[in-house]
Amino acid sequence: MSRVNTVLGAIPAAELGVVAVHEHIGYGMPGSELDSTWWKIPEERYAETVPKLREFHEHGGGTFVDVTGICNGRDVDHYRSLSAKTGVHIVACTGFVGGDTALPHFARATVEYLARHFVHEITVGIGGTGARAGVIKVGVSRGGRMTALDRRIYRAAARAAVQTGVPILTHLAIDPEPAVAIFGEEGLPLDRVLFGHADDGPNSSITPHEWLLARGGRIGFDTFGYETELPDPPFWARPRKERLDHFLSLLERGHLGQLLVSADANCSPLGWPGVKGHTVNYLFTDLIPDLRDAGVDDAVITTLLVDNPADFLSIRS
Ligand SMILES: [Zn+2]
Repeated sequence: MSRVNTVLGAIPAAELGVVAVHEHIGYGMPGSELDSTWWKIPEERYAETVPKLREFHEHGGGTFVDVTGICNGRDVDHYRSLSAKTGVHIVACTGFVGGDTALPHFARATVEYLARHFVHEITVGIGGTGARAGVIKVGVSRGGRMTALDRRIYRAAARAAVQTGVPILTHLAIDPEPAVAIFGEEGLPLDRVLFGHADDGPNSSITPHEWLLARGGRIGFDTFGYETELPDPPFWARPRKERLDHFLSLLERGHLGQLLVSADANCSPLGWPGVKGHTVNYLFTDLIPDLRDAGVDDAVITTLLVDNPADFLSIRS
């Protein structure tokens, strides 16, 4: 039976339910934890996060995948407590959002060290928390081209994915040729990779969706809800209809099996105010109604939110 690592233990993939595959409990840039301007006591973090997860659960949400990198505020004990309190399965990651968010200790590490570290967090656990990572996060640094460090992290992630059977999520799907070459060299099939942020404002037009899909990669439309229509939209926002139409065009071209959706929301931002008016629950309050209005039937919606993530997240032996 296929299984998935959650922060409270491995569960059968069939029990994940509706999955938000790219989200954050609390995300901030490395070092923000040292800026007392933004310190929050634990009660504030709970007060910001628990209602969102409870609402997620009430809407029928089953699993929240936290892809906050090692240096961006990942806090596994906090996730375990939240999961136990709300009943939402939480999957934690190992890895980094990008080379440019890996702190010097990791930035100077070899591929071998990084791969060993990822494998340890997946198979033994993350520190002494008792939680095992269920996915590996990698990403392209700011600037839009993969740096030497990005490539070391991608290679280490590929080795850990091959060895453990856990999948990889990427931050950004731009400049994917070096990534695809590394995954090929390490023997990782591309259906184990979700190329993320393929839908956002600045990057959607420079992401080669069809090129990735033709090679078997999975595509993440994972920033749903970051719309230019928001009162104070972030730089990665995109007009709501434009994103939806783009997504529908990929569905119409027969790519349903390779598509995943999420909101990339930040329940309790670290070191910044976050984006007002956007939560993981956009998936239920806006995306699903938008898909239905566009004539997408419920079987397709179930494939997108239940079956595809279960297949992707299952530890492959
Ligand atoms: Zn994210």
